[in-house]
Amino acid sequence: MNYRDYSYEELENQMRDFGYPKFRTKQFFQWIHQNPIEKMEEITVFSKKMREDLEQKGSLALPVCVDDMQSQLDPTRKFLFQMSDGHIVESVAMFYQHGISLCLSTQVGCKMGCVFCATGKEGFVRNLSPSEILGQVVMIEKILGEKSTNLVMMGSGEPLDNWSAVKTFFELIHHPEGRGMGYRHITLSTAGVVPNIYAMAESGIPVNLSVSLHQPFQEKREELMPIAKRYQLPELMKATKHHQKKTGRRTTFEYTLIEGVNDRIEDAKQLKDILRDQNYHLNLIPINPVDPSFKRPKAVFLRKFQKHLQDAGVMNVTIRRELGTDISAACGQLKQRFVASQEDDNE
Ligand code: SAH
Ligand code: SF4
Repeated sequence: MNYRDYSYEELENQMRDFGYPKFRTKQFFQWIHQNPIEKMEEITVFSKKMREDLEQKGSLALPVCVDDMQSQLDPTRKFLFQMSDGHIVESVAMFYQHGISLCLSTQVGCKMGCVFCATGKEGFVRNLSPSEILGQVVMIEKILGEKSTNLVMMGSGEPLDNWSAVKTFFELIHHPEGRGMGYRHITLSTAGVVPNIYAMAESGIPVNLSVSLHQPFQEKREELMPIAKRYQLPELMKATKHHQKKTGRRTTFEYTLIEGVNDRIEDAKQLKDILRDQNYHLNLIPINPVDPSFKRPKAVFLRKFQKHLQDAGVMNVTIRRELGTDISAACGQLKQRFVASQEDDNE
């Protein structure tokens, strides 16, 4: 077991079972959540005997950075991290005026199978544990020598298909004895796993919710995102509204524009309809083509669609500034390229 997988309470129980007094949990938690340490011997407040004992009973391993790419166009950096069983996930650091935003992975692969997504094509491998999600933050901050200010759960995987680990990760990174990050600096993006939108709203963890909408028409949405068959649009919109009420947070709806698929005036009108009583912000993202059948809309289409939205009365819209396009911006792409190059090397 990795010690960074335990919530504070779980660590406390574990330490009690090991026979240590309560104040040791606080020290241990502070050390492992405020420092990027991997070896028990670095915890100098513990006796040698205690360090040896804890080292024997668990691990402090962190993911290993196997690739670190710097964009030539902007300061965006993309990292590949290898987990202890060899699986690789990606994370991105984006630099803004207000700080550093990290994009984290929550699963190796993904079950949801969205047709436009590189991770979706790869299929599902396994869930990441809390320490493997947290490890991405710890390692990037160690590499950069700087703390991040925001986190977005938008790397590979569907965070609400791994809610238990993601929830523990949120509690760990927020804990006042640990990293102490405010929940309002964290955003979870989902393809629409409705029951866990409710679970998240009820959890008392008021992170921001971002919903990958991409299509305002039910049938067409099902063609892009198979999960839409299980959780249909009316249910999804009801769940997002519930989350808004419970947390007071505005929902972001992500809308990946695909030329000829979802950029028509009818789409704009339907969007207006389904967003009618939501507290929302709409984010337009030109698709990153991972498949030649999906074309990225030219800038002129983007502007045209924005005009359609304005005409339909959808006002809270932004076009997402794209960062790091030269180092494969879309979800899963960099990892695909890395794995392909390893395979080339092995031939
Ligand atoms: N599984 C979650 C979070 C990871 S995907 C989700 O789907 O929301 C993060 C975002 O990247 C989602 O909004 C997803 O729809 C989007 N995305 C995936 N592939 C893309 C591509 N090729 N171009 C642009 N956005 C893409
Ligand atoms: Fe999974 Fe999100 Fe990719 Fe869909 S877009 S396959 S939910 S990672």
